[in-house]
Amino acid sequence: MRLDLLRALAEAPGPPGREDRVADIVEPELRATCDRVDRDPLGSLVGVRPGPAGAPRLLLAAHMDEIGLMVTQVDDRGFVRVIPLGGWDPRTLVAQRVTVHGRRDLLGVVGTVAVHLLDEEARARPLRIEDMAVDVGLPAEEARELIRPGDVVSRVREVAEMGHLLTGKSLDDRVGVFVMLEALRAAGPARVEVHAAATVQEEVGLRGARVVAGRVRPHVGLGIETNPVDDGPGAPASGPTTRIGEGAAIRVADASAIADERVVGLLVRLAGERGIPVQFHVSARGGTDTRELQLAGDGAAAACVSVPTRYLHSSVEACHPDDVRACIALVAAFIEHAHEVVPG
Ligand SMILES: [Zn+2]
Repeated sequence: MRLDLLRALAEAPGPPGREDRVADIVEPELRATCDRVDRDPLGSLVGVRPGPAGAPRLLLAAHMDEIGLMVTQVDDRGFVRVIPLGGWDPRTLVAQRVTVHGRRDLLGVVGTVAVHLLDEEARARPLRIEDMAVDVGLPAEEARELIRPGDVVSRVREVAEMGHLLTGKSLDDRVGVFVMLEALRAAGPARVEVHAAATVQEEVGLRGARVVAGRVRPHVGLGIETNPVDDGPGAPASGPTTRIGEGAAIRVADASAIADERVVGLLVRLAGERGIPVQFHVSARGGTDTRELQLAGDGAAAACVSVPTRYLHSSVEACHPDDVRACIALVAAFIEHAHEVVPG
């Protein structure tokens, strides 16, 4: 596994709408495995690998963006006030190192009132993003020269090997992008036209995927994502569904999409034939680009393959390399067999 590539992808900053630094890493990788690569007006990249003449279209999608922040103002004391871009748990945001992408990149920390200065009532109150600010260590005048409203803020965190796991920020969904890129290299010839999309603005409502899917009008779709595991600390919310290290997850259902039964069946069959460990993610919450693949044009047969990931939407997301390998093998097998589930 090319850990260096995964590391570069996950460490690159890419809040929604500002994914260009991730795209700069993805584009040459897509060029190496596809006949052509298009960048659409929103910034999504789509690599195209033509199939036989008149072949149906398979659209793979993994998102490049990560949850981030956007500057609303620099206050009179130089603190940078922000709104969230995507679904933050405020408890995981405070005390983080971040980069403010202003006229140049500035190191900042997410600060809030020190515990010594909080009374009992304030300590018991849940933390809110409105109570935090990014401190870039500059007085207002200097900060305002470099930072303006609309600038974005991203987390700073390296990918590290931790026991058997990998941990870092934005494994959601750079590990999905990585799986897609590696699966394109691993897959044999396909009987479909393969469109491999690295999408933008997923975390703010699957926006990039909507445009991509509208242009490609796929017959078959496959989202490539992470999924929350409930094998971490604390009691499982609804009983364990997936566990880290036990294989690729097939995301059968979440709040955004119910996977096509034939596509799920094909994934299960291919996993059995090739000895790829799989498990199932079934949840009433969450969503992925799969929704847009499924609903585009005349509708597509779609499902999602995901890497089980702990601590999603935090700076310490963690996944197992064996699960990543299983996802790569499963997506590669699917590319070769997607023609079997073309509707109609
Ligand atoms: Zn995601």
